[in-house]
Amino acid sequence: MYAEDTIAAIATPLGEGGIGIVRLSGPDAEGIAKRIFHCRGPSNERKLKSHMLYHGTIRDPRNGVILDEVLLTVMRAPRSYTGEDVVEVHCHGGALICRRILGLTLSLGARHAGPGEFTKRAFLNGRIDLAQAEAVIDLIRARTERGLELALNQARGELSKWVEILRQELLEILVQVEAAIDFPEEEIELLQRRELVRKIERLGEEIALLIDSYRWGQLFREGLHVCICGRPNVGKSSLLNALLGEARVIVTAIPGTTRDVIEESITLDGLPLTLWDTAGIRQTEDELEKIGVGLSRQRLESADILMLVLDGAEGLRDEDAELISLARKRKTLLVINKRDLPLALDIDAVRADTAGIPLVEVSCKEGIGLPELKTTLRKLALGTNSEPPVVITNERHRAALVKGREALAQAGRTLGSGAPADIVSLDLQEARGALEEIVGTVGSEDILERIFSQFCIGK
Ligand code: GDP
Repeated sequence: MYAEDTIAAIATPLGEGGIGIVRLSGPDAEGIAKRIFHCRGPSNERKLKSHMLYHGTIRDPRNGVILDEVLLTVMRAPRSYTGEDVVEVHCHGGALICRRILGLTLSLGARHAGPGEFTKRAFLNGRIDLAQAEAVIDLIRARTERGLELALNQARGELSKWVEILRQELLEILVQVEAAIDFPEEEIELLQRRELVRKIERLGEEIALLIDSYRWGQLFREGLHVCICGRPNVGKSSLLNALLGEARVIVTAIPGTTRDVIEESITLDGLPLTLWDTAGIRQTEDELEKIGVGLSRQRLESADILMLVLDGAEGLRDEDAELISLARKRKTLLVINKRDLPLALDIDAVRADTAGIPLVEVSCKEGIGLPELKTTLRKLALGTNSEPPVVITNERHRAALVKGREALAQAGRTLGSGAPADIVSLDLQEARGALEEIVGTVGSEDILERIFSQFCIGK
């Protein structure tokens, strides 16, 4: 499936660093290394041991010029990243040194690796499946702890394991349907048909759960925008400060002091949120404040979630009522602030008026109710606080699962309508193909090309 040549690349980012690594993989990796690497003493004559670090120099075999002092390791097949013989040269971390050593290996017959070619070889040699290979990109690109955790799970084969369980369930159904094709006298009885349809439906639901987890993964990767809104002086800036745990925004008793939209980020148990503290929304003649109110309205429109703050120490005003009616149409968390003061707001009436919208009572000043606010906000953002068993983070996987679920639904319909077994079998085969695409049991060069071209060279 690929040319069995020896590839080489610089595996570390180009720039100044403590060390840089030039990596070789393929049948001639060790042969090339031997021609350029010299270690002190007699060990140069001996065969280098696998998975050991050797100290020595890299020399140009044409003129004996020393290029660098290095550590070198040979990892013989199959116990290496690619499953082939791999050599790593750990040299001093300068772009020029790395390039010269790489150049030397190329002049001795290695080929410069393409993007992701080491990982592609690991896949083609059966060291890892496709889902695991894709997780390598996510590992490298992870920006949040949670993203990293999800990528690690996938790299360790967590997703592949689930897909395999689903595939086995599908194969069991397929065997029963195909038995009816091979032995036509054993036509699928009506009862058996019903039972099979139920099994297909159950499998479809399991796949749907996995598909839903994609949104969960996406939220953890990309986060959500939360707009803190409310009329002036209800405590929006105080709430932002309380959530950040620091005095980020100036808090004053003068209404209309927050004019710009202030943006800050927090993570709630790994979930990244961008908080927008907006100018209080009210009618105003102040030109500057008018602009602030306009910006607030724009943020209100584009936020994923609204945190509507009401002042518990005052009764409802017209501006509050206007925002409450907006909140009913949006994903909103109602925050009744200033609960350290005597209650003047009719909370029961607000609850009755906003049925279904979660409501928390806090005092930003005293720090009361904040843990509950965070849990409620997180739950509102995710739709649930219970985590799916495995999280899909890759659009390709999601698309394959959607295709699988559709093919299954089709199989269920044809089976239910009494169609011949071979028609049902075709739909089931399609569902099976979709599942196998995820781990790469079936797949085209085209798909591989698309996946590995996203990698950096040297990985
Ligand atoms: P914003 O205009 O909605 O951003 O409101 P601020 O955060 O600037 O707060 C307005 C006023 O309310 C300030 O004087 C705050 O000290 C006060 N405030 C905010 N939160 C609380 C609270 O929980 N309890 C009490 N008693 N006062 C608060």
